[in-house]
Formats: sequence, C-alpha cells, structure tokens
Amino acid sequence: MVEVAADIGKERGKKMPICRLCSGTYPREFFIHGNGPNTQVCSRCGVEHGYISKDEAANLYDDTLKSARLSTVTRRYRPFLYLTVLWGLYITTVRSIDPWGWYMLIMLVLLTLASVVLFFTSAAKYSSTLARLTPDYERPKGH
Ligand SMILES: [Zn+2]
Repeated sequence: MVEVAADIGKERGKKMPICRLCSGTYPREFFIHGNGPNTQVCSRCGVEHGYISKDEAANLYDDTLKSARLSTVTRRYRPFLYLTVLWGLYITTVRSIDPWGWYMLIMLVLLTLASVVLFFTSAAKYSSTLARLTPDYERPKGH
C-alpha cells in the first residue's frame, strides 16, 4: 500500500511524504513543521498527539466545516444519483407499460437535460461556496 502510494507520487513528479505515526500519505502542506518529534507527522496526528494546537492546523477542518463542505459537494452531485435511480427504474420496469413508459421517458429526458444545464450554470456558485468554506492556509517555508 505504502509502495503503491509512493509510486503514484513519483509519477506526478513529486514525492509524497509518509506520516511516521499513521503511515498516511499526504501532500507536503498537510504535515506539521519542526524537528525532533514533529518530523514527518501529519497535521491530524500532530493534533491528536498534542504536538501542535488545533488553531495551528488551519488545514485540518473542524466538524462543522467538514459537514458544510460535504453537504455542498453532495448538493451538487445529488441530482445525478436520483437520475441514475430513475433511469434504472425506467429501463427495468416502466418502459414496458403503455402509455406510462413514454410519459416517463419524456420526463426523464427533460430532467436529465435540465440537470446538465443546471450543473454547468451553478459551477461558479459551487466553487465560490467551496472557496468560502476553505480556511486561509499559508504553506510554511521549506514545505
Ligand atoms: Zn499521521
């Protein structure tokens, strides 16, 4: 697992460091800064083991921020989940029922087109909401 992650890092032309406490592989900015016990420790382990305070780990999201980010992402992709279920329902059962098969096909085509249009028109709002939910974090020197 660790070797695989290291290989992926090399393919990108960047080595991904491994946390010495949890063996997790993260980009360099998710590691805490310092020597001695702070060497090669990710922000999460740094907070859990008391090497840094929660305020110092600005890129470690607290629970409210985490759930706000998750619901933003979910809201964006939820229509496609519903559409997949509805198309599956149509293909497996409703298609063979006359005339409901046709009604549902027309409705599904309209809904699919509307979702695709909404997906692209709401892209700017989505990225601004996500940017608002991303705390400012300055990458420490040497990282
Ligand atoms: Zn760790």
